[in-house]
Amino acid sequence: MSNTTEKVHPKVQDFLKKGPRKLFIDGQFVESISGKTFKSINPATGDGLCEVYEADEKDIDRAVEAAEKAFHGPWSKMSASERSRLIWKLADLIEENLEPIAQLETLDNGKPIRETRNADVPLVIDHFRYYAGWVNKFSGEVINNSLHPHIFTYTRREPIGVCGQIIPWNFPLLMASWKLGAALATGNVVVLKTAEDTPLSALYLAELIQEAGFPEGVVNIISGYGHIAGAAITKHPRIRKIAFTGSTEVGKIIMRDASQNVKRVTLELGGKSPNIVFPDADFSKAIPGALRSIFFNQGQICSAGSRLFVHKKIYDNFLSDMASEASKLKVGPGLEEETQVGALVSAKQYETVRGYLEKGKEEGAKALTGGAPKEGPGYFVPPTIFADVNEQMTIAREEIFGPVVAAMPFDGDEQIADVIRRANDSEYGLGAGVWTTDVRKAHKVAHALEAGTVWVNCYNLFDAAMPFGGFKQSGFGREMGKYALEMYTEVKSVWVNLE
Ligand code: NAD
Repeated sequence: MSNTTEKVHPKVQDFLKKGPRKLFIDGQFVESISGKTFKSINPATGDGLCEVYEADEKDIDRAVEAAEKAFHGPWSKMSASERSRLIWKLADLIEENLEPIAQLETLDNGKPIRETRNADVPLVIDHFRYYAGWVNKFSGEVINNSLHPHIFTYTRREPIGVCGQIIPWNFPLLMASWKLGAALATGNVVVLKTAEDTPLSALYLAELIQEAGFPEGVVNIISGYGHIAGAAITKHPRIRKIAFTGSTEVGKIIMRDASQNVKRVTLELGGKSPNIVFPDADFSKAIPGALRSIFFNQGQICSAGSRLFVHKKIYDNFLSDMASEASKLKVGPGLEEETQVGALVSAKQYETVRGYLEKGKEEGAKALTGGAPKEGPGYFVPPTIFADVNEQMTIAREEIFGPVVAAMPFDGDEQIADVIRRANDSEYGLGAGVWTTDVRKAHKVAHALEAGTVWVNCYNLFDAAMPFGGFKQSGFGREMGKYALEMYTEVKSVWVNLE
């Protein structure tokens, strides 16, 4: 299949033809009040895909009003079983539409169809099913208080109300599902803003939300810019919680803006994750694992294993094998079946990554493979492995968010303290990888790493049941698993005098 829009699924063609795509507010597709639109781009070609209405403060007001009406009306009156059924039905509808959704995501984001079809969309489906199962199982508890035997005490878990959710462009639909699943399972209502580079798959999801039969206003999906629509969500006095995924820089703005109304905040931010390969690692697993850790999704993944620490004894061999494998990865338009590394999401991201490639070379790192972006059309950067990196270099410290890994040797066999100190020497703490066949070492290192997730002899695996989030400036709060339900509920203590 070529990357032209004529050959895509008829549902995708229809979707793109129906532009400008509207905002989803109060169960309806509506134009923005200002009438303004912006263009969504196909990063594999640089051409426009379709126009999308752009929201501003007035549209956010409208969405909040609709959400509040749903929260105090049909949504709160609905039984838990019925809410669960709706979430499950949404998962079924996504499954029925897997191929068009996967294609639309690939067109809008640039990522390979083999990933959207086999990872992104199946994970979305699984995520909604997982949370459909929680709806009637998450509750408060009866507590035997110690001082007042005549008083019956218990807690309730109550929804927070209108939740503002702001998501990035790297996994557009998956990030939307991570945000929606737990919020809906706990009875909240949502105003979700997509990233300006990738608004389309969530608007397709909005059609399925409408078809599933969710009450109007429970989910509102907004397209627009961060500093306008995003800021309006963060500052809105009647939005009670903000769940944000994006850069650490914007995360700080969100905290500041949300503090004005003492909103609950959860932040999933950037990373510069260490991936450590010990000399006893199984090369046949560690090399593909290290490749996947950084080149999956063109490296545009918050948990990318972008700092690769390889033991001195195996450093040269490991890196030459890894570079040889990396150079074989097929770079190309996402809709081509053989593509393993697609386009970066935008011209802006392409220029950012190009800047880091230049910086790496200027600072003395050696590119074993890659090292320069492809010239257009499209925003392609081949997998790049920088060797001879030291920890002071910019490419070893800053999040690049592209297919670029900084490799560094480490020494000492039983003395793992040194590599742990170096791995932890970062303001980020999102993910980390460990490759070893020594089970004691694996656990010891996993416990010592300052990261929200540690993968041992695997990398970048995700599951709806496993919590995900960061230490340090990678954010706080957790998504997924039972932990996410806590982030979307208030705890109420009830005292009943039985005397
Ligand atoms: P970004 O911070 O630029 O934007 C994220 C979202 O915030 C977008 O929807 C944007 O419109 C909005 N936004 C921007 N300015 C805003 C403002 N002033 N107020 C409110 N909203 C605003 O991030 P990005 O470039 O879209 O995504 C890449 C970043 O996201 C990387 O740093 C990556 O590590 C991080 N990320 C983290 C996770 C995680 O789970 N920890 C997952 C994916 C991405």
